[in-house]
Parts: sequence; structure tokens; C-alpha cells
Amino acid sequence: MKIHEYQGKELFRKYGVPTPNGLPCFTADEALEAARKLGGQVWVVKAQIHAGGRGRGGGVKVAKSLDEVRDKAKQMLGMQLVTHQTGAGGQKVRRLLVEEGADIAKELYIGMLVDRVTQRVALMASSEGGMDIEQVAARTPQKIHKIFIDPQAGLSQAEAQGVARKIGIPEASAKQAGDLLKALYRCFWETDASLAEINPLILTRGGRVVALDSKLNFDDNALFRHPEIVAMRDLDEEDPLEIEASKHDLNYISLDGAIGCMVNGAGLAMATMDTIKLFGGSPANFLDVGGGATAEKVAAAFKIMLSNRKVKAILVNIFGGIMKCDTIAAGVVAAARKVKLSVPLVVRMKGTNEDLGKKILKDSGLRIISAGSLGDAAKKAVATLRKKPKPKPGPKPRKKPAKKAVKKKLLNNKARAKKVVRRKKE
Ligand code: ADP
Ligand code: MG
Repeated sequence: MKIHEYQGKELFRKYGVPTPNGLPCFTADEALEAARKLGGQVWVVKAQIHAGGRGRGGGVKVAKSLDEVRDKAKQMLGMQLVTHQTGAGGQKVRRLLVEEGADIAKELYIGMLVDRVTQRVALMASSEGGMDIEQVAARTPQKIHKIFIDPQAGLSQAEAQGVARKIGIPEASAKQAGDLLKALYRCFWETDASLAEINPLILTRGGRVVALDSKLNFDDNALFRHPEIVAMRDLDEEDPLEIEASKHDLNYISLDGAIGCMVNGAGLAMATMDTIKLFGGSPANFLDVGGGATAEKVAAAFKIMLSNRKVKAILVNIFGGIMKCDTIAAGVVAAARKVKLSVPLVVRMKGTNEDLGKKILKDSGLRIISAGSLGDAAKKAVATLRKKPKPKPGPKPRKKPAKKAVKKKLLNNKARAKKVVRRKKE
């Protein structure tokens, strides 16, 4: 789960990570009021969407008067903010953060995430803050410093200060930077975060180290023990199909391709997506209906998949174990009837109650392309997307002349022949 920058900063403050003072707002008048409350002479109006790159997209604006704060807020609210992370359509701005303008001397980068190889939290830091960290990693990997934190010992002051020095924080600020990193680690650990990013972490002209941006993602599996974080969820920022899927307890993720996949088991779902790719197609979603799904849950899943307009074919790949093939078949048939299935449906079923499942599908009268293996299913699903080849360009076939036209032509010829004969006689 993701949260907004202003919510991340509220958490940061709770753990002792310094941030500029700021207030969230939903209207231009609230923005004006926020600036008044904050005081000072320079404010920054920041669009709150769950995507980075807002600065370059016009979602972070400096204002030097209260009027300017209101004007900038008015312009920003309701706009479709396009950044490299939103896609071409952008994301509608519904919330703002108005905060004090910071006195920036240097922009740095800090990130924390769970590293699966070492099974530790990786702390990454760079002197190249304020820009796309993926580009820094690609072009100048030596400028990214990494340490892996021992979960039992935690992050020591010596380690934290060592990282601070490596990214160019001066000695006078190293102790405070060390404290900030330790506070960030505690925040990461105690909230069951999966990612924490501060880009930029700034060094002010006065030598203070401050988090100017915040990005926090949380492990969905641990949300049950953090109701205060769940309360921060903003459904406006999430994919409506994923929200619908989560209501039915389905593991569904929207993707960009054209083949909707309904599979049981996350591993088989991944393998199915890989196989579709292998045969030149692209999956429209990841969907694991799980082991204990009912026909109703399967029907809900099927409907969610079909309401994605990008879906041009569906591949159902079921390995019946605990999940029985007939349950899936009954769910598919019920949903296909309700939503009037208009795209090709390829089904591969193996395992428990396979024959019964196949019979249900056959008796339903639905037009189903059945497949024997995973490869066969993927090939068939991809083949349904291929347009019929156009006829090769070449000389146009001559039309057979109509009878009337032939007669006219003959008469003309006759008349011409008569004329020629007459002229010759003369
Ligand atoms: P994003 O990462 O989405 O572009 P940031 O919060 O990182 O958004 O802001 C982009 C840039 O705007 C920062 O790198 C910084 O230069 C500037 N900025 C952001 N907040 C402030 C602030 N409070 N005071 C001064 N400059 C700011
Ligand atoms: Mg940023």
C-alpha cells in the first residue's frame, strides 16, 4: 500500500525524521489558510498524488506571497498531472501539501528496501539527490552506497554516520544525519514498510539535514496490524479493478497487455504470464484465484477481468488440486452468461474433477477453445489476437464486363467500322 507525501512526513515526524512544516489542503482557500498558519515568506505548493516526478511535471511550485499560494493551489487542484510514473493520462490532483520553502544547499538521496538475497533491509544513499535514482544507478553506479542492516543489531550510529560521510555530509552535520537515518530505519521497521525513500534529503545552508520528500510503501500482508496506516489509504489513487478485486480477497494486479489470465496459484500465474510472453503475447493482469475459491469468487474474478477494456482474449489455466476444476468451470459459465462474453476464451484444465469441469464448459454452449498444455493454451490465446492477413498488394483483378456494356462496346465498334468503310469509299 502507498501513502501520500504529507502522510509519510507525518509518520517521519512521529519517528524523529525532520521535515519542513507543512499542512495538507483540499481547496485553494485551505491552501491560503495553511500558508498563513505556517508563516514565513516563501511557501511550496505540492500536488499530492501517488507518483514521483511531480516537480518536473508542474506539481511542485514555489510561491512568494499569500496570493500566489492561492493562485498556484487553484491551478493545481483538479489538473491531470502527468509525470514519468503516471502514464500519458496523468493523475488527477485532489490534495495539496503547502509547506515552508526550504533553504537548500545540497540535495541527496536515501532509500531503504527489503533485500531478498541478504534477507536484510538495504540502506542506499547517494550524493546525487533530487533526480531519478534509476538513472544515477545506470550511469554512475559508484555514486550509490549500500549497506545491509543486521536485523538483530539494527542500524548503529557508526554505520549511519559512515553512510552520511560517504554522501558528502560535512562533519558538523554527520551526527544529526546519523540520528535521522536511525529514525528512518525505526520508522521502516515498526510500520512494516517495504520501501522508504527520501529524494531529496537536503542539507540546508544552516547545516541541518531535512527530508524534503517522502515515499513510503507498506507490506500488504502486515497491514492487519497497522490500522492507523490503513486509515491513510486513498482509494482515488488506486486502480478501480484492484480495489474491486481486494473486496473479494483476490490477488489481482492490472497490467498493460491484452490477454486476461485466470489462474490458481501465484507460481502458476507467473508461469502463465511468462509463457504468454514467450509466444509473443502480453498479459492484461496477474490473477491468482487461490486454492479455496468458490464459484461466486471465480465469477467475480472473471467479471473484473472482463471489465478491463484492454482484454481481447482470456486464458483460464487451472491445475485442480484443492481447487476443483468444476468449481472454476461453474464460476466461468455463470460470469460469462452475466457479462455476455465477447472475447475468445481459451481454457486449459488439469487435475481434480477435470472431466466434470470440461463437461460443464461444454454443456454451457459457450464458445471455448480448449488446450491440452500450458504452451498450447498460450499459443492459442496469442493466435486469437492476430488479425487475418491482408491480401498482398498486386494488380487489381479485372472485373468481368457487364452484358450491357459489352453490347454498347460492340455497337460502337460497328459504328466506327462503318465510318472507316465510308471514308475509304470516299
Ligand atoms: P517529486 O520527487 O515528485 O518531483 P519533490 O518533493 O522531490 O517531488 O520535489 C521536487 C523538487 O522541488 C525537489 O527536488 C526540491 O528541489 C523542490 N522542493 C520540494 N519541496 C520543497 C520545499 N519545501 N522547499 C524548497 N524546495 C522544495
Ligand atoms: Mg522527490
